[in-house]
Amino acid sequence: MALDINKIRNDFPILKQMVHNRPLVYFDNAATTQKPVKVIESMDRIYRETNSNIHRGVHHLSDLTTRHFEEARETIRKFINARHDHEIIFTPGTTAGINLVAFSFGEKYVRQGDEIIISAIEHHSNIVPWQMLCERKGAKLKIIPINDHGELLMDQYEMLFSSETRLVALTHVANSIGTINPVKKMIETAHRHEVPVLIDGAQAVQHGRVDVQDLDADFYIFSGHKMYGPTGIGVLYGKEAILDELPPYQTGGEMVDQVSFEKTTFNRLPFKFEAGTPNYIGGIGLAAAADYLQETGLDEIAAREKDLLEYGNKRLAEIGGLHLFGEAGNKISIMSFILDDIHPYDAGMIIDKYGIAVRTGNHCAQPFMERFGIRGTIRASLVFYNTHQEIDLLCEAVEKVKQMFN
Ligand code: PLP
Repeated sequence: MALDINKIRNDFPILKQMVHNRPLVYFDNAATTQKPVKVIESMDRIYRETNSNIHRGVHHLSDLTTRHFEEARETIRKFINARHDHEIIFTPGTTAGINLVAFSFGEKYVRQGDEIIISAIEHHSNIVPWQMLCERKGAKLKIIPINDHGELLMDQYEMLFSSETRLVALTHVANSIGTINPVKKMIETAHRHEVPVLIDGAQAVQHGRVDVQDLDADFYIFSGHKMYGPTGIGVLYGKEAILDELPPYQTGGEMVDQVSFEKTTFNRLPFKFEAGTPNYIGGIGLAAAADYLQETGLDEIAAREKDLLEYGNKRLAEIGGLHLFGEAGNKISIMSFILDDIHPYDAGMIIDKYGIAVRTGNHCAQPFMERFGIRGTIRASLVFYNTHQEIDLLCEAVEKVKQMFN
């Protein structure tokens, strides 16, 4: 069933405001999404009614908040269909989750001469932690190249494996141009070589169903703020058997079992990887976001966003001097483009004057920009609360930009 767009837009109070005397058009959703009332209220309720530090408290409020937080973990488990609650580690976000694995997995399994495979369309957050690990260990980064549409070259991927390959770290969806990578197939390939796979799901979980067991991902990582949840919270899913073997990343309170000045033993999963007071309010807000997505319908969301992408691509293609990047057959609703002889920053600033929020620059994907010989793009990232009328407004604003520069 098609989504009721009036109801949906009412769920997001921020969308009602005016920017520069025009109705806000929010097309910067790949950077962060707006929050529905359900999420805002879930967090507000905890602060007003039950706030107390979680775990080990014997008093009423601590018990209630602990229960809410652990129920949130169960909600997230169901959201991505993990096998166990304790495979869900709350982190501050995708970057933090990737760094955790780069450290803990790297400490345990990566040695001099080993190799790690990533791709040419990664966000810096899935490049730099591996680069640093390789520098620390004397290991080597290998890169899966892309074609002109921004799709990974599968035959080259297969050829990158060697007996030294220790891990594949791959984005599910590219934030710069929206390509959806065939991660299930790529995980199968890696497993044939007995290599585990980490998937950066920061741009994936908000656009359709993700089932980590079906994918057979060894690690799957995402951020709350990109899936209509709060900032400062994210999820690292890892298979129990692998997480059990890894050493802790950050240390301190919560993650310990016994501490003496001679020796410390560590807590069981998931707490071994959640040092310090966790962002329990964020975790509860994130679960509310997952509930909101489920109630709205991930299939319905995907269908609406596909329609928006088709309409947006058609409308933008009508504008002379506009070049779209990333024409992968399978992609999410991101339109990344440049305008002849106009710097993306200049265009973005003028587009903002029409109340339209787009992102300009390299989108934390400098190697991708280099591959195409450009400095950056103007990126309009659309989600299910956006409309055809808003796309028309963007096209009008782009025409105005062109007129001003001509
Ligand atoms: N990976 C991808 C694909 C992203 O798009 C982003 C953010 O844009 C990140 C990682 C980093 O996410 P965060 O800043 O929430 O840690």
